[in-house]
Amino acid sequence: MSSAPTREVNPALIELVQRGINGDRRALARCITLIENRAVEAPALMHQIYPHIGRAHLIGITGAPGSGKSTLTNELIKEFRKRGRKVGVVAVDPTSTLTGGAVLGDRIRMLENFGDKDVFIRSMATRGQLGGLASMTNDVARVMDAFGKEIVILETVGVGQDEVDVAKAAHTTLLVEVPGMGDDIQAIKAGVLEIADMIIINKADREGVEKLQLHLKGMLSLAPRREWQIPILRTIAVQGEGIGEVADAAEKHLVYLKNSGEYEKREKARLRDELLGRIREEVTRRVLRLETAPGGLQDTLNQLELRQLDLDQAAYALYKKSFE
Ligand code: GDP
Repeated sequence: MSSAPTREVNPALIELVQRGINGDRRALARCITLIENRAVEAPALMHQIYPHIGRAHLIGITGAPGSGKSTLTNELIKEFRKRGRKVGVVAVDPTSTLTGGAVLGDRIRMLENFGDKDVFIRSMATRGQLGGLASMTNDVARVMDAFGKEIVILETVGVGQDEVDVAKAAHTTLLVEVPGMGDDIQAIKAGVLEIADMIIINKADREGVEKLQLHLKGMLSLAPRREWQIPILRTIAVQGEGIGEVADAAEKHLVYLKNSGEYEKREKARLRDELLGRIREEVTRRVLRLETAPGGLQDTLNQLELRQLDLDQAAYALYKKSFE
């Protein structure tokens, strides 16, 4: 979006999208790469797929590292495949560039070697970019949706705002908790509980399940009453236990969303968030292009330091200049 997005008809892109819609995996991979690289073709790509989106059930999975998200995702893929669904996974790991560890998607792939052409897993890491991870993730999910994935799992490490943003993109958000970590240490953040539509107590083979369940129930009872009663489900992901119930509850949640009108409401709220986010990104990108320009970012910072401008004045001046 660095300049006005192009909408020119590009025959190669049209062909690529057609191949994707026909189920070609390499076309899907290529399209995702275009989005990840913020390639110049990306806006035109999104424009082309837009008429084809809106069929997938987007399921977000979030929780602390080590809580079993990869294992659970792997099991859910199997479960949904048994139910005949085509599955896409976008694994977002905002920490991976810091830890150098294998990103979630790679771990899912390591768990089982999917030869299944109806499963597509892609991991994404932040690359120290100016945010924008959530909108990128949303676009990748949209491509998977347009290309026929009926279930798109968005998996994210629980590290704050990114996870909240990614969860907002999902229709159904699963929060994974683990017993025996000590309720105090685990510190289930109210903000995260707010985004959960289902809570999974994974590693239910461990001690402390009852205690955690009580604790979670207590936390939920403090939240404002909602029509949808957040289920607390137990799984032992390593043994594939309880997975069917998780898939059932997710499907039930989607039915609830559709029947209650909540689906449209969320969709609208999500689009609003995303639109505002994109405007913020666009403005930031424009201003950063003026880093060393006369009257640009550095000059303005100097003026701020010298108290020649206040922050509001400076922000407005740069905003205006970025459109000159
Ligand atoms: P993630 O970081 O949240 O994706 O967690 P992983 O899926 O990588 O799991 C972390 C570790 O917990 C792995 O060693 C898993 O084998 C293990 N694990 C996952 N689910 C269970 C479970 O239900 N019970 C037990 N005991 N271990 C599990």
